[in-house]
Amino acid sequence: MSKRSVPYEWCGLCEKRGFHSEHDANKALGRAATTRNRVADRTGTRRGMHRENRFYDCDLGFYHLTSMSRKDVRQ
Ligand SMILES: [Zn+2]
Repeated sequence: MSKRSVPYEWCGLCEKRGFHSEHDANKALGRAATTRNRVADRTGTRRGMHRENRFYDCDLGFYHLTSMSRKDVRQ
């Protein structure tokens, strides 16, 4: 993990990274997009790439990134 990554805690309920605020989740989304674009530029394709484009809050109060649309997210 690089020094510049957004701080997170592991969420045992969702078994994924959990951010403590919308602000951190937004920052993490931005980082993910930047990394994706770099990879896409190198490989020349974006097909089949995992896209996290939004976040949601879970029962434990964490914010999680997801590529799913709202209807697919358990609320
Ligand atoms: Zn969670």
